[in-house]
Amino acid sequence: MSGTVPLGALSLAGPHEPRRQGGAPSPFSLVDFQRRTVRYVRISLTDRCNFRCTYCMPAEGVEVVQRPDLLRFEEIVRLVRVFVSMGINRVRLTGGEPLTRRRVVDLIGQIAAIDGLEDLAMTTNGHLLPSLAAPLRAAGLTRLNVSLDTLDADNFARITRQGDLSSVIAGLDAAKEAGFSDIKLNAVMLRGMNDAEAPDLLAYARDSGFTLRFIEYMPIGTDDFWGPKSFISGGELRDILLKAGWTLRLDEGSDAKGGGPARYWAAWPRGVDPASEPGTPVGFITAVSDHFCATCNRVRVSPVGILRECLSTPGALSLRDAMRHGDDDAALAASIRDALDGKVDGHRFEAGQQTFESMVQIGG
Ligand code: SAM
Ligand code: SF4
Repeated sequence: MSGTVPLGALSLAGPHEPRRQGGAPSPFSLVDFQRRTVRYVRISLTDRCNFRCTYCMPAEGVEVVQRPDLLRFEEIVRLVRVFVSMGINRVRLTGGEPLTRRRVVDLIGQIAAIDGLEDLAMTTNGHLLPSLAAPLRAAGLTRLNVSLDTLDADNFARITRQGDLSSVIAGLDAAKEAGFSDIKLNAVMLRGMNDAEAPDLLAYARDSGFTLRFIEYMPIGTDDFWGPKSFISGGELRDILLKAGWTLRLDEGSDAKGGGPARYWAAWPRGVDPASEPGTPVGFITAVSDHFCATCNRVRVSPVGILRECLSTPGALSLRDAMRHGDDDAALAASIRDALDGKVDGHRFEAGQQTFESMVQIGG
């Protein structure tokens, strides 16, 4: 299949002019029916992972995608170019574990060279950062989020099943050394497993200059681990911090900060006067208890190239197949634009909706 609109026309359509006067959408801008403008795409490089986090994937029996079925580097780069022509300015690479993809540093270099892309970030478990942080930085990666759910080595091994805490801490040090600033820590909090460690995680983030975000456990996965026994809300976590002596104040302007889903609070440990310093920022990503779907600005691309408009719904458009069947860039853009009409107004996780695919298949 071949498109009828030259790629140049996409930028003329105007990513910064999402809806024309009178309400008709311009043909290729990424604005959905809820008038949410999509500026951000998360691309999964692989469904493979060197960890097996309890909340993310089963311990064994994981079927992995065959390598020829994964998006190739040239396909990923081409997709980013098309997305950028449609107004996307932020890309995050994720997985599975993105650093397990061979020659990932080369890929970063190719994506970073794309004109118009303002922010190229990665979410990683950090295990391979000790050797890769500096090359990633040199290749043009701008920002890093590192998952860290606990500072207790035994608990880390229990939660990740295959992970080693010391390599992740060394990876974080290497990332700082390599010049990454604004490193974020992502901690998925699980009742009875690491919730009591919330104050220690925040103290570590404060001492190390990282920005911690607590993430609510979402009902996404192939097992039945999710439920009231394992879920803990952002509000309950704040109570744990308060009981441990932290002072918390909502940062009212934080909804706009970074265009991300986290709401930020300023935090002061016991004994530090809030009048004496601005406080340590701490984010809460409350996808279940207080969702942020109304301001969602993102889409995802799975490791095999499925466009997923919402985490909670399976996507139908295979961008990989479209490319391998010969679609030109204009046709790809038109398909992406059409698929966006399928972006639901919000998930229903709080009402019992579950997604029975694992995060590694979706691309977290
Ligand atoms: N392997 C990398 C990592 O762990 O950072 C990137 C992929 S991982 C799927 C991306 C993020 O999704 C991680 O921060 C992880 O903690 C989070 N995640 C995975 N399963 C989740 C779930 N069921 N609920 C909430 N967050 C989840
Ligand atoms: Fe792997 Fe990340 Fe999932 Fe943990 S959360 S199993 S590190 S993909």
